[in-house]
Amino acid sequence: MKISQHTVVSLDYTLKNGEGELLDTSEGREPLIYLQGVGALIPGLEKELEGKEKGDKLTAVIAPEDAYGSRRDDLLKIVPKSGFKGEEEMQEGMQVQLDTEHGPALAIISKIDGEDVTLDLNHPLADMTLHFDVDIVDVREASQEEIDHGHVHGPGGHEH
Ligand code: ZN
Repeated sequence: MKISQHTVVSLDYTLKNGEGELLDTSEGREPLIYLQGVGALIPGLEKELEGKEKGDKLTAVIAPEDAYGSRRDDLLKIVPKSGFKGEEEMQEGMQVQLDTEHGPALAIISKIDGEDVTLDLNHPLADMTLHFDVDIVDVREASQEEIDHGHVHGPGGHEH
């Protein structure tokens, strides 16, 4: 069965940047399992996977506009240092978790200047061309319930 809208795909992947540095991999873990066509993966990767089937291996090079987009200056926010717990331990380059109106978000402390802390809310992979090596482990049809929920059920997916 070929990967198409509303198939459930299991895959092993390795993600590298343009310099060949390892950014992420499923090696040593269970394969990634996702529902194709609902925006679970970055658009460029879903597009490359479309039409592939179990046992296929592919290399996909995804430009930033089909991955995590460009860095945006409006995602740099200056906030007061006193708003943080453990402020004395804060350092530039550290990752902090924020509670936003859209739920928890990760930010990098890009600068500390006295009381002013500049947070960078850009995705860490923004502006990057991503190199994926993918092994397709399994492809199956999604159940109606999975399609209705917009995610995979069972092992590796939502348990409910
Ligand atoms: Zn569900």
